[in-house]
Amino acid sequence: MRPEGRPNRSESVEDHLERIQDLVDRLGYARVSDVAEALELSRSTVSNMIRRLAKRGYVNYQRYRGFTLTESGRAVAADIRTRHETVTAFLRQLGLEKDTIEAEVEDIEHHLKPQTLAALSSLVEYWESHPTALAAFRKYRP
Ligand code: ZN
Repeated sequence: MRPEGRPNRSESVEDHLERIQDLVDRLGYARVSDVAEALELSRSTVSNMIRRLAKRGYVNYQRYRGFTLTESGRAVAADIRTRHETVTAFLRQLGLEKDTIEAEVEDIEHHLKPQTLAALSSLVEYWESHPTALAAFRKYRP
C-alpha cells in the first residue's frame, strides 16, 4: 500500500513530465523529438508515453504539433521540480561536486517516499538557517 496522497507515478512518467515542463518553460511548448533527445529515448517510446500522459489528463497533445501541460500536469511537474531542488540543495550542502550532484539527483529523486523527502527538506532548511551546524558537519566529514 502506498503512503497517503501519493499518486501512482512511475519514474518514467516523472522524467517525462519534468522534461516537458523544462521545455515548455524555455520554448513555450514541447515536441516529441525534444523530449526524446533530452531523455535519450526513441521518438516512438516518447510518443507512446505522451499519449498515456494525455489520457491521464496531464498533457494537451496534438499530433504533429507541439504540446504543453494541463493544469494538473503542471501541478505534478511543480512537485517534481520542488523535490529535485530539495535533493540538489541537500547534496550541495554535503559538498559534492556539481557533476556528481546532477547525475545523482536524477537517480535518487524518484525513489524518495514523502516522509523521507519531508525530513530531507527540514535538514536542508535547518542547515540553511544554522550555517555553523553545517560547517561543523562539513569539518567532521572532510
Ligand atoms: Zn530531476
